[in-house]
Amino acid sequence: MGKELVITIDGPAGAGKSTVAKKVAAELGVPYLDSGAIYRAITWYMLRAGIPAEESGVLEAALGSLLLEITKNGISVNGRDVSKEIRMPEIDKNVSPYSALKIVRNSILGIQRAQGKNGVVADGRDMGTVVYPDADLKIFLTADAEERAKRRYEERIAKGETADYGQILEQVRARDEYDMNRETAPLRPAENCVIIDSTQMNADEAASAITQLARSLG
Ligand code: C5P
Repeated sequence: MGKELVITIDGPAGAGKSTVAKKVAAELGVPYLDSGAIYRAITWYMLRAGIPAEESGVLEAALGSLLLEITKNGISVNGRDVSKEIRMPEIDKNVSPYSALKIVRNSILGIQRAQGKNGVVADGRDMGTVVYPDADLKIFLTADAEERAKRRYEERIAKGETADYGQILEQVRARDEYDMNRETAPLRPAENCVIIDSTQMNADEAASAITQLARSLG
């Protein structure tokens, strides 16, 4: 079963969406889409090109000439694998203003929907509300901001990076604020979604709750 299933997992930064979505996708044998990686890759490119986060002809031309490719292990921009670079704090800090722009969002609707052709588990902010409004199962995965910041902090430390918990918490809150209050495709639970609060759950527990819901769709 499951080949054509479209499952969306939206929610705030650090709720564990990508870990959980990957587990659900593997369990059900459906491809996984990390939509945040696309916004991060665009941000990486624009920062390097010195193009500010505002609607402009320059930004439009840059978007038109960008070749974004979703690969098995990440994402590339104009043939260059940027999967690691897009996880840097510099991108965390700058991604929300770029992703708030309608011109940016519209430019990647096609690439996202193409990924869902044969079923998908997609994580992001607007997967259930905008990109896949007819999804079979919509999840809103959330957790307390403190818990989300703690997870990010531990992730960075585990990678051997330096991290400041207070700064991460501040950034997580700022990003949520921006993502929830933007005009285009704001972060909010989709109609008919199932809200899962993972503050007291680990990734396996959240993933198995979602897998069970998917299996019960029949
Ligand atoms: O999920 P991740 O933290 O990688 O997403 C990075 C940023 O990309 C989010 O804070 C949000 O601004 C933007 N984003 C979005 N819509 C999505 C996925 C991500 O606006 N579907």
